[in-house]
Amino acid sequence: MTFSWHSALRSKLVELVIHLRTPEEVEMIARGGKIIANLFREIVPLVIPGVSTADLDLFCDEYIVSHDGAVPAFKGLYGFPGSVCTSVNEEIVHGIPSPNRILASGDIVSIDVGVRLAGWCSDSAWTFVVGEVSNETQSLLTTTEKALRFAIDAAKPGNHVGDIGAAVINAVEGEDCKIVRDLVGHGVGREVHEEPQVPNIGRPGHGPLLREGMVLAIEPMLSAGSPEIRTMDDGWTVITADKALSAHFEHTVALTAEGPKVLTTLASSFHEDFATNLTA
Ligand code: MG
Ligand code: MG
Repeated sequence: MTFSWHSALRSKLVELVIHLRTPEEVEMIARGGKIIANLFREIVPLVIPGVSTADLDLFCDEYIVSHDGAVPAFKGLYGFPGSVCTSVNEEIVHGIPSPNRILASGDIVSIDVGVRLAGWCSDSAWTFVVGEVSNETQSLLTTTEKALRFAIDAAKPGNHVGDIGAAVINAVEGEDCKIVRDLVGHGVGREVHEEPQVPNIGRPGHGPLLREGMVLAIEPMLSAGSPEIRTMDDGWTVITADKALSAHFEHTVALTAEGPKVLTTLASSFHEDFATNLTA
């Protein structure tokens, strides 16, 4: 990614179509976000050896629709067959839940959940450990969470989208994993996917200007091996080209005058949320 007048112009054009949400609208998005945050708490005891990804999908679907008016936002989105995405081990994103995909000790599974409530969308993903995992696996998860934390801290008005990607690069520097560059975060609001795209690589001060009222789904994805991706024959599941493990964490974040506000967490500080995440 090199700076040019062309990319500066493109950034300006993207800025024109980025929605800015009022504090009341941000609160509406946070209502769905809280459902996802609670769901991730509730699902921890179920992510154990012997469970299928279809079991997890069913739990998520039932949990979401048990809240008045809430529906799983990914169900049918672009034709996706599941209610949530379940991506195991080398699968990075968009894994289709299946009764034949049984989790075993040592696996990791990213559960990516979207909720639509009263016309507003929220989007969050966590990668869970199944049983006992190796130190290398744990380290990949820790680094991916750190990347998300750094990225969220960079999501403040006055910065640019490139500052978010630069923060991910900074978090991964010196670690034994690679950034999956070909998959990006995004704006979220009336639709699951809105402008701007939020790449996980970037240069400080480049890309569209971040402004108060933007709501972004920030989602670093890391590979323990190759950063290159492949799409499986099912047309959905994206895997690492060398089948190395990959991890994915995502939060929906509102940019406020006081700084980034995470809408898909239960904790007053999302840093607390991370600390409890992997202790299941
Ligand atoms: Mg997601
Ligand atoms: Mg997303």
